[in-house]
Amino acid sequence: TLSVASEESGGVSGTGSCCAPSYFRVALLGAAGVGKSALIRQFMTSEYKGTFDIATPDAEDPETTVSVLLDGEESMIEFVDEPNENELDNVRADAFAVVFSLADVASYTTAISIVRHLRVDLCSDRAIVLVGNKVDLARQRRVSSRDARLIAMKYDCKYEETSAALNHRVDELLVGILSQIRLKLAPPSS
Ligand code: GDP
Ligand code: MG
Repeated sequence: TLSVASEESGGVSGTGSCCAPSYFRVALLGAAGVGKSALIRQFMTSEYKGTFDIATPDAEDPETTVSVLLDGEESMIEFVDEPNENELDNVRADAFAVVFSLADVASYTTAISIVRHLRVDLCSDRAIVLVGNKVDLARQRRVSSRDARLIAMKYDCKYEETSAALNHRVDELLVGILSQIRLKLAPPSS
């Protein structure tokens, strides 16, 4: 339903609208140093970048807002980098990317507790993507894909592994986030 989009963003524009792209806010959560800011920087260089001019009065910060063209439809995505922990319960976001480092077990534990907090304590039904970043640090890997995928499944999240450093699978993450948002707005009729 349309009510899923946050009020502030104006939510989705009319279905099949030809002009104004829909606008979504995505909050990046996770421990310090896992690569959230690095991921956002890479999002801004995505191959899926649309043509919509983000230099509009609506775009508060072009450094964190990107236009994404997917399946012939353009969407504006604003990334909110590290909202305060204590603000977490009030974050207005259409989706969450919960990031950890595959080389850091403590960051993985933090990510799991954030996901649990969103799903269990706050009963959020928003799209959540669990992101294992720093996949390039293969020899320092401390979290298996299998474990992370099981946790993601348990909490109804998508799971992605990325390297912001190498720009590996960052576009896939961006597209994955947008796909999850669209799925939540308009679940495919089975
Ligand atoms: P944040 O605190 O979550 O915003 O993390 P940053 O984006 O500031 O990144 C923290 C550190 O990790 C920086 O030194 C980055 O260069 C490094 N980093 C980020 N992503 C990756 C990655 O995918 N691989 C590696 N090896 N280092 C990364
Ligand atoms: Mg940062």
